[in-house]
Amino acid sequence: MIPCTVTAEDLAVRLAGVRSRIEAAGGDPAAVTVLAVTKGFDASAVALAAGADLWDLGENYGQELVAKAPDAPPGVRWHFIGRLQRNKVRQLAPHVGLWQSVDRAALGAEIAARAPGAAVLVQVNVSGEEQKGGAAPDAVPALVADLQADGLDVQGLMAVGATGAPEASRPGFARVRALADALDLPIRSMGMSADLEVAVSEGATMVRIGTALFGPRHARGPLGN
Ligand SMILES: *Cc1c(COP(=O)(O)O)cnc(C)c1O
Repeated sequence: MIPCTVTAEDLAVRLAGVRSRIEAAGGDPAAVTVLAVTKGFDASAVALAAGADLWDLGENYGQELVAKAPDAPPGVRWHFIGRLQRNKVRQLAPHVGLWQSVDRAALGAEIAARAPGAAVLVQVNVSGEEQKGGAAPDAVPALVADLQADGLDVQGLMAVGATGAPEASRPGFARVRALADALDLPIRSMGMSADLEVAVSEGATMVRIGTALFGPRHARGPLGN
């Protein structure tokens, strides 16, 4: 993890920029949640986010979340957005407010055991890129039913867009919206720094933004870059 070198003033300008991109894409900036993705950065990014009144923070490595959560200002709500192994659930459970990357029933059962009634999103793989995780779209309705039967609070769907130009994400995001509508799930977490306009125009209710707020992270692999 590296310190975030963006100043509080810079962050305010960057956040305003993200909100105007949401608006330009046809979204209501008051209704689309900006999830600030602090992965790769140390606690400095957490403090900056809170100072900018951003309280929904995302992490996709369990170790980083467990390192940052105990010292975070009260009021931070942590979202786990990365690939998740069952054996990591126990240590994350005290900290996570929304599990966004649930993509199989066994993982849901573990979350239900460690955090009964927890709020979750089902991650949908709409890009066909296996390394991004997510359940196949056709498997989502049955998975949602399984998770609900375990007592979990399924609040919506999450997806990572396709690699390539932002427009490559559009058909997948449209699929997520259709699935969420059919299942009557309110949250659609889709869109990142590069493709947020496409996501918002396809009905995102939450965008997950790292680079556009905090600047570049050091390289760490396909989703951690
Ligand atoms: C890293 C990451 C983000 C944020 O990506 P940026 O391009 O830096 O905005 C969003 N969602 C997931 C799942 C991520 O892994």
